[in-house]
Amino acid sequence: MALGFSAQAESILPQSCSLFKGRNTAMQAPLAMSDYHVALRSCQVQGHSFVALREFKTSNKTYLLITDPTTLKTDLVDKSCLSCEDITLKQLPESHFRGALKQQSQGSFPLSNDGIRHAQTGSKGYFLTVDLCPSHKEFEKNLFGNQKVSTTSNFPVAVAISGGWIAHHQDEFNQLKNQVLDGQLNVTWVNHSYTHPYQKSLPLDRNFLLTSGTIFADEVLKQEQYMISNGLVPSVYFRFPGLISDRKLILELTSYGLLSLGSDAWLALGQKPTPGSVILVHGNGNEPYGIRLFTAFLQNITDMSVFKPMNDIF
Ligand SMILES: [Zn+2]
Repeated sequence: MALGFSAQAESILPQSCSLFKGRNTAMQAPLAMSDYHVALRSCQVQGHSFVALREFKTSNKTYLLITDPTTLKTDLVDKSCLSCEDITLKQLPESHFRGALKQQSQGSFPLSNDGIRHAQTGSKGYFLTVDLCPSHKEFEKNLFGNQKVSTTSNFPVAVAISGGWIAHHQDEFNQLKNQVLDGQLNVTWVNHSYTHPYQKSLPLDRNFLLTSGTIFADEVLKQEQYMISNGLVPSVYFRFPGLISDRKLILELTSYGLLSLGSDAWLALGQKPTPGSVILVHGNGNEPYGIRLFTAFLQNITDMSVFKPMNDIF
């Protein structure tokens, strides 16, 4: 089973169409890829519609990163398995995906926390997100090692992962991937940028991805390639470092077919989760206070099924 493989796409597309199907991607050497680029397309297979977001070459074949616009699940599939045509954002099929991108592009573009912060529907679930910003500290073992979490199979969590974290935590990264393969974690892999710029001395409107000289396209697309070459299927979500963005970045993100993931419960900042909240903690060792608060929050949870996969937020 591949990481992030869509069960629905699995039933529609033959196994041989999927890049990772049948591979234990936790054990593989990084995949060599080329010609990675944005390609917005409407694709059909056996009467089912998908939206292609990217195209790239690997293993002498051309592959697409596709999403199901209704479920927002993503997959990496052999281009020859689908019949596709180029579209614009305005030509996306009516769906949760189209609606969310439209809503994102028509926002008020706040500097901080622009994006999905809470369930759009009446969902009473909690949506846990764990940020892995670059850090030389150990992964927070108290998070997924928590007894309630470790005894819940397929515990749903969105992991926002940066290139800088992967580069310095290969062993912990492989452990995470193995926890997915073992059926312990159900991870939605979220792009958290390639270099995740940050300087303590700079004001927020010139910090993180608003840092002078930052090339946003590289931060998004290089990290996607890094994730795929390391065996992950990127989701349609992007978490801005520091939750800091502006109108220009949000509109550029929209043009890539990605959704900004904010939070209304960044625990270490004192924000308390309410039913439907996107909860934010750091798993990179930089914010142990947030992990302690999450541990305390878990003590009051009697039914772990209140935690939902990110795609259920619509
Ligand atoms: Zn971060």
